[in-house]
Amino acid sequence: MAVDIENPYNVAVAQFDEAAERLGLSQAMRAILRKPKRELIVNFPVRMDNGDVEMFTGYRVQHNINRGPAKGGIRFSPAVSLDEVRALAMWMTWKCAVAGIPFGGAKGGVICDPHNMSRTELERMTRRYTTEISIIMGPNSDIPAPDMNTNPQVMAWMMDTYSMHQGYSVPAVITGKPLAIGGSEGRLEATARGVLIVTREALKDLNMIPERCSVVIQGFGNVGSVTARLLADFGCKIVGLSDIKGGIYNPAGIDVHMALRYSKEHGNLSGLPGTERVTNAELLELPTDILIPAALENQLTVRNATRVKARLIIEAANGPTTPGAEEILYDKGVTIVPDILANAGGVTVSYFEWVQDLQRFFWDELEINERLETIMTRAYYATRHKAKEQDTNLRMGAYLLAVARVAEATEMRGVYP
Ligand code: NAD
Repeated sequence: MAVDIENPYNVAVAQFDEAAERLGLSQAMRAILRKPKRELIVNFPVRMDNGDVEMFTGYRVQHNINRGPAKGGIRFSPAVSLDEVRALAMWMTWKCAVAGIPFGGAKGGVICDPHNMSRTELERMTRRYTTEISIIMGPNSDIPAPDMNTNPQVMAWMMDTYSMHQGYSVPAVITGKPLAIGGSEGRLEATARGVLIVTREALKDLNMIPERCSVVIQGFGNVGSVTARLLADFGCKIVGLSDIKGGIYNPAGIDVHMALRYSKEHGNLSGLPGTERVTNAELLELPTDILIPAALENQLTVRNATRVKARLIIEAANGPTTPGAEEILYDKGVTIVPDILANAGGVTVSYFEWVQDLQRFFWDELEINERLETIMTRAYYATRHKAKEQDTNLRMGAYLLAVARVAEATEMRGVYP
C-alpha cells in the first residue's frame, strides 16, 4: 500500500484500515470511525508587543466521543497542520481505548513559533485561542492538555480564560495544570513513567537485562528528559540524547542529571562536556539496545530504517515510525512498543486529574503512581496477549483492542436519530 509518509493523517487512516479489516468491521462502521467528528478552524488576531496585530490559525479536532468526553493535547508549532491535528486526534481515541479510560480522542494546535514570542505574546495568543475554541471545550465535552511546546503555565492560562467566561473556576476543563490550581501530583512525570513501565515489561519479554542495556532518546522535553532520568535511575545506560539543536553521544554513558542541569542553563544539550556532537539523523542510527523517539512524527522512515541498530523501539512520541519503516524494522527483528500504548501514561494521569478536579478530592503521588502502574501494565499485557492471539505485532495488537472497544461503544449507541 502506498502511504504518503509526510502526512500523518494518511498514516493514521492506513493503520485504522488494517485493524478494521482484521476485525471485519462493517463498511458503515469503518466510514464512521475513519472521519473526525468535529473539526474547528479558528483564525484570530493577537496584538504583539510592538503594537502590530498578527493573525494566527489554530485547530481543535474531536475524532470520536462515543466512550466519553474528547481528550487531547494542544501543540504550538510552526509545523502544525489540520492533517497533523486530525491524526493526533484519532490516535488519542485509540490511546484512551487501549488504556481503558473513559475518554474519546481530540487534539488541538496553533501554527506559531513559541520560541520567537515573548511571554506576554504567548499569553495573549493562548487566551485568544482558548476563547475561540471554548465553544466546543468543557469539563464534560472536551478537555485539553499539554503537548509539544505547551506546559503547565499555558494550561493555567487556558483554564483561567475558560473560567473567566463562566464566571467561576472550572479546573476540570484542562489537565496538566500546575498543582496550585487543581493539577495532579505526578502529571508532569506521567508520560515518562508510563514509558518506563512498558520498557520494563518489554525488556522482560525480550530477556534483556536493564543494567546491560544502552538507550538513545530523541527529544529532551517533558517526555524525553523525564524518560532519560527514570531509565537512568532504573539502571539503563543512556548513551545518546537530543533536542531540536542536535544530539550528544557518549558510548560510556551520559550523566543524565548533569544533562538536565546543562540543558536548563544553556537552553539545549549541545556541548555537554564529555559528549560528542551528532546530528538528529545520526542519533537515530547510533549503536544502542533501546531507541526512544520522544520528539515528533515521521522520524523513522524508509530512508533510515535499515540503518537503525536498536533491538527495541519505544514510541514515546506520537507517530514517530512510518508504516514503510515499520516493515523494514520488523524484518530486522526489532520490537516496537507503539505510541498508543507507550505514551498513554500522560492521558491516564490526566484522567486522574480530571476525576480529582470533579470530586474536589485529591490523591497523593503514591496513589497516583500505583494506579498508573496498574493501568499501564494491564494495557501492556492486554496488547501483548491480543498480538500473540492474533499472531501479529504489538501495534496491531493495540489497534485491535482499541478499535474493537470504540466500535462496540459506537454500535451500542446506534445511529442517531
Ligand atoms: P516538548 O515540547 O516538551 O519537547 C519536545 C522536544 O523535542 C524538545 O526537546 C525539542 O527540542 C525536541 N525537538 C523538537 N523538534 C525536534 C527535531 N526536529 N529533532 C529532534 N528533537 C526535536 O514536547 P513533549 O510534551 O515532550 O512531547 C514530545 C512527544 O511526546 C510529542 O510527539 C507528543 O505528542 C508526545 N506526547 C506527549 C505527552 C505529554 O504528556 N506531554 C503525552 C503523550 C505523547
